[in-house]
Amino acid sequence: MILVIGGAGYIGSHLVKGLVDKKQVIVLDQFSTGHGALVDRRAVLVEGDLGNEDVLDSVFRTYPIEAVMHFAAHSLVGESVVEPLKYYENNVVATCTLLKKMMKYDVKKFIFSSTAATYGIPKVDIINEETPTNPINPYGRSKLMIEQILEDFNKAYGLEYIVLRYFNAAGADDSGSIGEDHHPETHLIPLILKHLLGQREKISVFGTDYDTPDGTCIRDYIHVTDLVDAHIIALEALIKGEKQAAIYNLGNGVGFSVKEVIAMCEKVTGLKTKIEFTKRREGDPARLVASSDKIYEELGWRAKRSLENIITSAWKWHCVVGSSESKH
Ligand code: UDP
Repeated sequence: MILVIGGAGYIGSHLVKGLVDKKQVIVLDQFSTGHGALVDRRAVLVEGDLGNEDVLDSVFRTYPIEAVMHFAAHSLVGESVVEPLKYYENNVVATCTLLKKMMKYDVKKFIFSSTAATYGIPKVDIINEETPTNPINPYGRSKLMIEQILEDFNKAYGLEYIVLRYFNAAGADDSGSIGEDHHPETHLIPLILKHLLGQREKISVFGTDYDTPDGTCIRDYIHVTDLVDAHIIALEALIKGEKQAAIYNLGNGVGFSVKEVIAMCEKVTGLKTKIEFTKRREGDPARLVASSDKIYEELGWRAKRSLENIITSAWKWHCVVGSSESKH
């Protein structure tokens, strides 16, 4: 069985849906930001905190767990600056408790969700895994700390792991039944789509004076279904013993500016946005674009879905399921 921590969250729920055909899945989630209804019914659901030793003891004693995939983290950069303790307690301390229990029960295979925020403000246009890490906020630092802990655990205890550094995950499963549903929502694509559905008055563009062609920030948006495919390929490589300690970027290799994303949302929906240009948001690097060549060369994965695919799938989900904020 595969233990998916945070399997009710945005990326976790998509992963469970993709994995449950291949493996027995057990989801551990405290349903704080995740949503139980998003979890595929074929998965076993356990409600609990990943930092709770009793819950972990019970899960590892009860189920024959082959590998752990860890999606449960706080992930808002701005919040991490204001509330670093929350980030270090959940993303670092609780994850250490999980790792301790994995060692205790001899579960030695681990897939870890990391982030482009580990790179900070990179000096290169295209980021590969050799680009120096230098996170500029507690969120990025908390993720890098776990990456370093994993390296040490690999050497000392034989823990085998794959770290996946996501760039900007977006989009929704093709079924339209699950999608991105954060409360509060801070991400660009869902905010634009909510605005176009009439749930927000306008869309704010944070900064127009960046050193980019149109002055707005450039990001590498990756479809959540592409992310899921990468996780499943990584899990298979780990289980087969083909990889023991690896770090991979997950991105499309193509950057889009905030203005370009807005234009694509208008194209996909046929609707017009009302834009407000505001000052920069603290902690935003001008450009974050990934090279994912390493995972292509080593595991054969590459992103298949375009920005248009991402927005089309997200729009479908927002229209069908997520159209009413009052439901929550
Ligand atoms: N952004 C924006 N307006 C918003 C939300 C985001 O201009 O209301 C910009 C943000 O500054 C960044 C890009 O959109 O350059 C993507 O932001 P998001 O929060 O989606 O992801 P992040 O890159 O912070 O992980």
